[in-house]
Amino acid sequence: MSEPLVIVGNGMAAARLVDELAKSALGRYAIAVIGAEPRLAYNRVLLSSVLAGETASHELELQPASWWRDRGVTLKYGCAASGIDVGRRELKIAGEESVTFSKLVLATGSVPLRLDVPGADLAGVHTFRDGRDVDLLLAVGAQKKRVVIVGGGLLGLEAAYGLAKAGAPVTLIHLMDRLMERQLDKPAAELLKRLVERKGIEVLLNVSTSRLHGETSVQGLELADGRSIDADAVIFAAGIRPNIALAGQAGISVNRGIVVDDRLQTDATDIFALGECAEHRGICYGLVEPAYEQARVLAQHLAGGAASYNGSVVSTNLKVSGINVFSAGDFIAAEGSETIVLNDTKHGTYKKLVISNGSLTGAVLVGDSQDALWYLELIRTRAPIAKIRGDMMFGRALAIGSKAA
Ligand SMILES: Cc1cc2nc3c(=O)[nH]c(=O)nc-3n(C[C@H](O)[C@H](O)[C@H](O)COP(=O)(O)OP(=O)(O)OC[C@H]3O[C@@H](n4cnc5c(N)ncnc54)[C@H](O)[C@@H]3O)c2cc1C
Repeated sequence: MSEPLVIVGNGMAAARLVDELAKSALGRYAIAVIGAEPRLAYNRVLLSSVLAGETASHELELQPASWWRDRGVTLKYGCAASGIDVGRRELKIAGEESVTFSKLVLATGSVPLRLDVPGADLAGVHTFRDGRDVDLLLAVGAQKKRVVIVGGGLLGLEAAYGLAKAGAPVTLIHLMDRLMERQLDKPAAELLKRLVERKGIEVLLNVSTSRLHGETSVQGLELADGRSIDADAVIFAAGIRPNIALAGQAGISVNRGIVVDDRLQTDATDIFALGECAEHRGICYGLVEPAYEQARVLAQHLAGGAASYNGSVVSTNLKVSGINVFSAGDFIAAEGSETIVLNDTKHGTYKKLVISNGSLTGAVLVGDSQDALWYLELIRTRAPIAKIRGDMMFGRALAIGSKAA
């Protein structure tokens, strides 16, 4: 008889895990997926494209209903798991009967942060995380409301672009001295700022929010330096927090995320976690590729194989802004590493390659990112670059065309 395997969360990590399990452990498990969002698993990454009017919402589904049915998966969506009885191996579902499991996987993702300032709960204050948020933001754009976006990372920039494209006046405010500071060095971030401003988006750096004001709906935002910005809508894009509540309440070890080992197992037997809710070797990833790598390892482990997750090399690219931005690996350049830099501000191009011990260890590209995947591959494989070093700044075609790596 198939063992009951229950997955909590119907997001990108869960969908990939089911796909991997269907390939490697078909028939071994009776899989049930419990998801709080009221729809089939969808590509969350593409929400930015939906907001920018480049993708329709119904095109986001990762798999059609028949795909899940064909794999014998019991799907319950629109209902949240509310508790885990670790000893009895039972998962409680809000308003429903508990289900028993032999293995449980937590894939609960993250929750978007709302700043802890007065007025944060006024009407007109939004986040940018799920399909419902995007429906609300599309309405804000259509009504051309004055928008302030709090947060100058990838999410904030993509929200700013989508709303500005819809014709809304957008101000983007950021606490740090540069945009995307976790992915870009100073020159790259300065160039990005100029390119973003050219799209009609006002950017304010080094500013913090002291409060939002308005009667019932937000009317503006006050900065700590005393300045005030009028706004009909405010969007918090200032970070995420791994969704650890369920695990924490059940007594499973949590830190920032749900603590897992190299097999993605928590400190409770037969209970696993992956994706944005998991913390592996002290790292909570906020990107989809690590979740997919974790899904592959966990599926192999659940299929009875030996597999180990050793962490991920992460890369980021800005998707919808009309500005090509890519960053991977050691983008700042750790002590002892060398850098090759091309900085053509007038042309809107910045490239930085970081080299350490004869391999590429980091890259930042603004403007021209067509060789991003090649650089990423070099970083991931740590391939020796001595033979292509002279040409690699100018892209794959030139470097590989002249000498094999
Ligand atoms: C607008 C946007 C753009 C992005 N762009 C990129 C990008 O370009 N590149 C990139 O790598 N990443 C990007 N990301 C991040 C990426 O989407 C996430 O890393 C990825 O979705 C994580 O997958 P996950 O399954 O761990 O979490 P999620 O996809 O968030 O899925 C978790 C699911 O669990 C559900 N859940 C939570 N608690 C419960 C419960 N108690 N019971 C039942 N269900 C529950 C949630 O409702 C949610 O549906 C972007 C995110 C957003 C919002």
